[in-house]
Amino acid sequence: MKNAWSDEDAKMMINNYAKQGVSEDIALRVYTSRLLGNDHNLVLHGGGNTSVKTTMKDVMGDVVDVLCVKGSGWDLDTIEPAGLPAVRLEPLKQMVNLNKLSDEDMVNAQRGNLLDSQAPNPSVETLLHAFLPHKFIDHTHANAILALTDQTMGDVLCSEVFGKKFGLVPYIMPGFDLAKKALEVYLENPEVQGLILLKHGIFTFSDTAKQAYSRMIRAVTKAEKFAKQQAKKINKNALAPIKLPKQLSSAANIAPIIRGLTSHHGQPLMMDFRSNGKILSYVNAKSLKRISQQGTVTPDHVIRTKPYPLIAPAPEHGKQELFQSALKKAIDQYHIKYHDYFKRCNKASKIKKTELDPNPRVVLVPGVGLFGLGNSKKAARIAADLAETNIDVISDAERMGTYQVISEAEIFELEYWSLEQAKLGKSAEKPLQRKVVLVTGGGSGIGAATAQAFAAEGAAVAVLDLNSEAAQTIAAAIGGQGYGCDVTDESSLSTVFNRVVTDFGGIDIVVSNAGAAWQGRIGDVDEATLRKSFELNFWAHQRVASMAVKIMEQQGLGGCLLFNTSKQAVNPGRDFGPYGLPKAATLFLMKQYALDYGHLGIRANAVNADRIRSGLLTPDMIKSRSKSRGLSITDYMGGNLLEREVSAEDVAQGFVTLAKSEATTAAVLTVDGGNIAASMR
Ligand code: ZN
Repeated sequence: MKNAWSDEDAKMMINNYAKQGVSEDIALRVYTSRLLGNDHNLVLHGGGNTSVKTTMKDVMGDVVDVLCVKGSGWDLDTIEPAGLPAVRLEPLKQMVNLNKLSDEDMVNAQRGNLLDSQAPNPSVETLLHAFLPHKFIDHTHANAILALTDQTMGDVLCSEVFGKKFGLVPYIMPGFDLAKKALEVYLENPEVQGLILLKHGIFTFSDTAKQAYSRMIRAVTKAEKFAKQQAKKINKNALAPIKLPKQLSSAANIAPIIRGLTSHHGQPLMMDFRSNGKILSYVNAKSLKRISQQGTVTPDHVIRTKPYPLIAPAPEHGKQELFQSALKKAIDQYHIKYHDYFKRCNKASKIKKTELDPNPRVVLVPGVGLFGLGNSKKAARIAADLAETNIDVISDAERMGTYQVISEAEIFELEYWSLEQAKLGKSAEKPLQRKVVLVTGGGSGIGAATAQAFAAEGAAVAVLDLNSEAAQTIAAAIGGQGYGCDVTDESSLSTVFNRVVTDFGGIDIVVSNAGAAWQGRIGDVDEATLRKSFELNFWAHQRVASMAVKIMEQQGLGGCLLFNTSKQAVNPGRDFGPYGLPKAATLFLMKQYALDYGHLGIRANAVNADRIRSGLLTPDMIKSRSKSRGLSITDYMGGNLLEREVSAEDVAQGFVTLAKSEATTAAVLTVDGGNIAASMR
């Protein structure tokens, strides 16, 4: 592992922060915290914490000793001074004299001693940092250390590797008791460079930021080297593979089935798929059941991944139904297992808990890869990241010996610990947070506004556009995913649908919006033009809808198809036949989908919009049309009952409204400012 310290960078950090009035201690604390956070073999998703003991002035101008320790909600790789709340050190140190301290009292005392009452909650490991005397303390859940300690002989291996340089602290849940035990182990040999917390992680410390950090890197490198040597000697066949079907299903073919079956009271989870050589050799291992079901490599992963992943059956190509029924059985068993685990541990627990959603957050699929699941795309990504880390650590541990983690009761204590649950945040979910929305023609105009409107409601949005760059720009701005796609080309469309399903796990709402206008008097228009318009303004809608309902059927969660039809579909304009005719067919296409798929909970609706500034109604067209009618541009654009211009955002809100109207199907919503001749009758 590379030591990334640079005297130059450290100095630059000190100088830059000095301009903002930040002390050298804090600047260096930020600097090495980020170095640690940037290495994912050390720290992942808020998994480590750091501190520095320094002085600050309080409101009276008195200089006080403080502990600046990582605050909850901050990640080490992006930490700022504000992410290191200052807590008065003396009162924290006094707590060592207590025999007992409840979590609630501990949190309260930590908050009560903050210099800034608005600061985030100091880390749950604050007291451990406070009790130890060192100025700089670094804590990580380094993979190589976990691979060493998560073993039946973990303590023996750690002693063999580190000798007397590190103290070994037995597993205790984070909090007051662990802090006291860590101090006790340290005092037995104050010469140590750090502490190994068995089946949890590692602390290193020193009076300088550079040395505390360097000790971390040296210790982890030592553990990595040891693992390499050991792996050569023992257990080469640790991950011997099972026999798999000759032809396997793709992730896209099974993702919607998994998403449907893991939904909770009709509420699906978002998904994130991963696959590579390492993941495959793990999910294909004969020993998968034994090694994957014991518990997470470090306790705090449990709140994001559950204690163990679900092992899905290996999916044979073309046998989706078989996979579905076998998976259903596996999930039912998972629920029973989780429920039993909850009941057993809750009975033994002093404070009674309420059972969480019993669905897995990680699904391992032999031959295919792994899926992370979560109540948002971000949560799914985190679960997948942690699952990958678990695979790395468990694989290494198995190559060295036999993987073993903390007991079920200890895992339960952490999964249901109020302080850990608090990390997930209590903020209410946005209305469409668990929905995957696909928008065609999403790179500009109405499509772009619609993608933005759905993202604002919390949805994960797949933006499709002929112009790949435009799709990606819009998607990047809303945290979605952009895809270049020609909706008139069946193979381009089907490739993109597969990618969307692999990226998100499924599709819930489709806004079939891509379109273009062709004009000409209907008796004179050449057939090629008319066919071209039908290709985009009818057939593309049919293809998109047909592919979408297949995925929605697999998910079994209902769904919503939304079509952008036009005023032309209801109230034709002179010489607009080539555009209006396919749009009229699309309006009936919507009704046909509503009719044929309603019993599956799949709704189909349309928005009928008119006179919106877009690629179909360019500034030049607006100029010439208003001129030919003898109107100003404002009067032309506002030529409706409400006498106001209708924007792409208005149309976007129409789509969102229809998506949320759970009891509405086969409906047309007019968004045109009012036009009696074009109104529905
Ligand atoms: Zn920790």
